[in-house]
Parts: sequence; structure tokens; C-alpha cells
Amino acid sequence: MHSLVAERPYALVFKTTNWCWNNCAHCCESSGPNNPKKFIPESVIKGYIKQAASDERFDRSVVFTGGEITSAYKFVDRHYVPNIINYALNMGCGVDIKTNAGWVNSPLATQIYADIENIVKKRAPSKKSKLQIQHELPFQVSLSLDRFHNDALARNFKFIEHFAKTDMGASFRINISSFDADNGMLSDLLQRLNTAGVNVREAVILNKNAQTLSPVYYLNDNIIVQYGNGDLFYGGRARNIKNAYRVPAPQFSFLTADFACLVAFDTNNRVTLGENCGPKIAAIYNDKDGNPYPLQSVLNCLVETTYRAEQKYRQQHFILDKQVLLARKINQIFSK
Ligand code: SF4
Repeated sequence: MHSLVAERPYALVFKTTNWCWNNCAHCCESSGPNNPKKFIPESVIKGYIKQAASDERFDRSVVFTGGEITSAYKFVDRHYVPNIINYALNMGCGVDIKTNAGWVNSPLATQIYADIENIVKKRAPSKKSKLQIQHELPFQVSLSLDRFHNDALARNFKFIEHFAKTDMGASFRINISSFDADNGMLSDLLQRLNTAGVNVREAVILNKNAQTLSPVYYLNDNIIVQYGNGDLFYGGRARNIKNAYRVPAPQFSFLTADFACLVAFDTNNRVTLGENCGPKIAAIYNDKDGNPYPLQSVLNCLVETTYRAEQKYRQQHFILDKQVLLARKINQIFSK
């Protein structure tokens, strides 16, 4: 399986900080307000995107997440977030930024809204036909809508309403993720948007793996909302939650729906295969003086670590399988 990691396309994920305003009970990253206010430096992020851009295996997808990335406005510099987004977009990448939108009622909102508008407007086509759905950018904001995120319905509503009512000449996608048990929150959200005067049109799209369908909602043709739900993974604080899904093995071949590997950098000098669940396969990306290793060495190291973890897992299971066979034989002998 490690050969998959060596051969498949990959996407870059930057868990820019492990700090967060929230302290959600289900947080797979154990993020929260007591964690260090530490961020992956802008130069390191740009350096890895630049190196990846000349690698044909890079699928040109970049995810910026946390913790809560927008806390960089408070603790790093007000340009950190727009700078890394613009850099990745300018390098021809699709960008997904994940936020809990916990800032929508704070003074930060004006700045963040303005930055997102600038990112979108800068890339809008100069002429647009009123008859067509607006040009869609390879830029996505991901939100969570579930019982665990504080005030999620109200925060999502405020964020989405703002952009649904803002004509920027181009649209961007908002991805909402949830859990099966909380599906009803989406209808509440759409209902609220409708009542607030947002025109909601539903469609169904064929996902990139060409095997599954997802509902999408066009909001005033300014925003496209895509909704998905999944399991609650047993990792971080989610370990304390009943029914969290325990991933049985390390994610030797963690793949996205497009069959790309996720290569995720965090603030603790770790780069892991996969993003947020299961036993992690990890390598380091800084040398002892804090200088980042070249991307290709990091990827090679990740492949090597995956290979070793895979061998160990197979060996353990071989021993376990032998023990099970022996137990069965003994059982057969004594039951005769
Ligand atoms: S789940 Fe998200 S919002 Fe909640 S603590 Fe973790 S990073 Fe913060």
C-alpha cells in the first residue's frame, strides 16, 4: 500500500495552528484556547506550495485549516490569511479554507469579509452575462453544522447570508459538513436563509469520483453550498464520545474522493498522511535548527514511514491470525 502513497497524486493540508476559540467536545485535533498561539510561518507554507507546484504528482489542491485559522488576524498579522490564500490561488491551486465562523459577531468580521470579497473580486471575469450562473472560483470555505460546534446554526447563517447577498461578480463554494444525526440542521439553515430573502435553488451534482451524488444549493447565484456528512472519528477529544468511529489501522493509503493522498503539516513539526483521524503516520519537516526540509525529502520520508508502519501492521496481524487459527484447532479437537 505504501506504493500508493509513493505514486498517487497528493494534496497539501496546512493545519496552520492548534489554537481555537472553541473547545468542542468532538475535536479530533484537541484544539482549544489553552493551546499555544503558534502558527506555521507564512514563508514555510509558501515554500512548500512553490515546490509542489513544479511536481506533477501535486493535484493542485491546498487546504488551510487549524485549530481556527482566523485567529491569525489576532495573534500573527492581519495579512497572514489573505496572503497564503492569494499565494496558493496565484500558483494555480484550488483552495479550501476551514473556519468555525466563530468571529462573525466580533469586530474581526468586517476585515475577514473584506478580505474574502477582495480575493473573489480580483478573480471575477471582467464581463458577466446576467443569464449565466456566475463564474465559479476554485476557492471554497468549509463550515461545520452540527450539535458540537457552539452556536453553529446562527454563525453559519450569518456568514452565508452575508455572501449570498453580496454580488462579487464571481461565486465561491461553501462546503458544509455534518453528521447523520444532525442532518435536520441543514433544512433549518436553508429555511432561515429563505425567510431572510435569499433565493435558494437546489440541484444535484455528480461527485468527482463519478459514483456518488451530492445536493448543492445555489444562493442568489452568488454562493454555491455543498453539503456532506460523515462519521465522527475516534481521535483527539472525540475519543470521549460514544459512537465515535474507531479507525482500525493507520491510514496507509488515506485518499480523498479523487484518490489523492492528503499530506498534512501541523505546528508541531509533523507532517502526516491523512488529516484528522486514526493512528497517524508521521514524519517531521524541520531540521533541528527549525529549517524546513525540501518537500521531496519530506514526501520520501512519509513514504518510508508508511512502508515501515505497514510492515509492522502486517506482522502483528500475521501473528494474530496464527493465534486465531491455533485457537480454532484446539477448539475443534476438544469439541470432538
Ligand atoms: S472542532 Fe474546530 S471549532 Fe471545534 S475546537 Fe476543534 S478546531 Fe475549534
